[in-house]
Amino acid sequence: MHRRGSESNVDGSAAPPGVACGRCRTVRSAGEWSALPLRSEIGEAEVAALVSRWPDDLVVVVRTCTCGAPIARLAPRRAG
Ligand SMILES: [Zn+2]
Repeated sequence: MHRRGSESNVDGSAAPPGVACGRCRTVRSAGEWSALPLRSEIGEAEVAALVSRWPDDLVVVVRTCTCGAPIARLAPRRAG
């Protein structure tokens, strides 16, 4: 395996800036956020009560920050 100075195997410039906690301000990458304990997952039925249109392939995933605050993030619905 050859290693170069810069790696380009991540999403690059299109990558989201990160997921910030509203309480402790910790900013995590999507991968780091995914490692946090799952609090709840809100699907179409719940969100549809709040917004008139909701894409079928998205859910709102809420995870618990290490400071205890909930952090919500849009995520693609898992197939199956
Ligand atoms: Zn936090």
